[in-house]
Amino acid sequence: MCGIVGGICKKNITSVLIDGLKRLEYRGYDSAGVVVLSADNELHRARAAGKVVNLENNIKEKKIPLDGTVGIAHTRWATHGEPTSRNAHPHICNHTVSVVHNGIIENFLELKAAQEVDGYTFTSDTDTEVIGHAIHQHLQDSESLLEATQKAIQTFEGAYGVGVVSPKDPGRIIAARSGSPLVIGISKKGNFIASDQMALLDITKDFIFLEEGDIADITLDSVTIYDKDGKQVEREIKTSKLKSGQTSKRGYDHYMLKEIFEQPQAIRDTLESRITKDTVLSSAFGHKAKDIFKKTKHIQIIACGTSYNAGLVAKYWLEDIAKIPTHIEVASEYRYRNPIILEDTLFITISQSGETADTLEALKAVKKRSKDKNIHTLTICNSAESSLTRESELTFLTHAGPEIGVASTKAFTTQLVSLALLSVAVGRCHKQVSKQQEATIVDGLNRLPGLIKKTLEQEDQIKELAKTFKDKFNAIFLGRGTMHAIAMEGALKLKEISYIHAEA
Ligand code: GLU
Repeated sequence: MCGIVGGICKKNITSVLIDGLKRLEYRGYDSAGVVVLSADNELHRARAAGKVVNLENNIKEKKIPLDGTVGIAHTRWATHGEPTSRNAHPHICNHTVSVVHNGIIENFLELKAAQEVDGYTFTSDTDTEVIGHAIHQHLQDSESLLEATQKAIQTFEGAYGVGVVSPKDPGRIIAARSGSPLVIGISKKGNFIASDQMALLDITKDFIFLEEGDIADITLDSVTIYDKDGKQVEREIKTSKLKSGQTSKRGYDHYMLKEIFEQPQAIRDTLESRITKDTVLSSAFGHKAKDIFKKTKHIQIIACGTSYNAGLVAKYWLEDIAKIPTHIEVASEYRYRNPIILEDTLFITISQSGETADTLEALKAVKKRSKDKNIHTLTICNSAESSLTRESELTFLTHAGPEIGVASTKAFTTQLVSLALLSVAVGRCHKQVSKQQEATIVDGLNRLPGLIKKTLEQEDQIKELAKTFKDKFNAIFLGRGTMHAIAMEGALKLKEISYIHAEA
């Protein structure tokens, strides 16, 4: 899932779109594109494989006239079809509907077959193209682009965040989300959409976070939102505390390196207001936490990737410290099978973004299937305004700050810190943790930032050591107990970053 930016403003929108795409580059992508609706009501498009700078060069070299106040843009991470310029978004249907899409339309083959019968031609190999055709088809019997999009999305299965523009209904953008995040940026200069508020921080700090199933009708001076049942709803405008500079590399060569060095502060921030010198504050997990923890007889953790590895460490801690039977499973397995949900389970999801699709779906499935079983839900995540925080009863935020690097670093260590606090908090509710044990754990956590700082001061020696590993083809990480999970995280990190085969 990659990046979406769009907007309607008083001036030419192109630079806003291109800047927004650049701000989303950190997420990784394979191609980029932009569509602008010109003053003469035509859709003008530029696309390129590779970096946003290739797109800019393309616009300049081909003199593509991107001159208009309404537009949408996309950075793509291919799921269906090669990462080529013809598959890059936005896609256009019959010069009439243009779409950018994050996510996957799972029933696209079925829709495509029917659309081909109806005479639609496909110019890409993406699943996304069916969205444009479906909206085009519904435009024939709809009063507006909004109505056509509302009808079209009824036919989609899968996950999507979409932005739609059309010369048939100029001066507006339709935005819809289901399973992929989408925010609306509100400003005096105009109204904007993005898959991530980072894209718009230079323009505005005021955001509406669309909820699951929401569809928004956006013009220069209005934003109207309808929920999944088509009912008009009010969504609060929230002021973001993020600073646009938080996404810069601040002199480091890479975001990942910067974030490794931010760990001491990130951990300090995560601990702040949650502990005293020797105790964990029970309110740290929310005012309902104490009652819920007391009733908890089982814990089920669901997560993916790095968050799963953090959860594996927590399984050892929760059983050892809190003495609560704890199970952990990868979300992408859990959501597709029929797991037995025990009564009085605390269901914990862990995710940096709070938007991990499999984890979110697993949580929703559990909530649906386990009514009357005294199931409670807690999410440990790094984003206050996320789907997981909205879906969970209890939220514990890791205050790691934005993590731009694709390989998780400070998010992982702050997750571990959070899970250590949780183990103590749950254990104390079950009278399993002595004052002395709690004080020792809290003291250890308090010393952690200093110890990490000291470790990072050995950067030069670490660089020297890395030279002896850099040309190897295989690596094995060894560990027992909680260190087994850490070995798994080490192997994952090495694979992600160096493409050296690694196992734990
Ligand atoms: N599934 C779409 C494609 O392959 C969108 C991918 C994305 O989220 O970037 O084009």
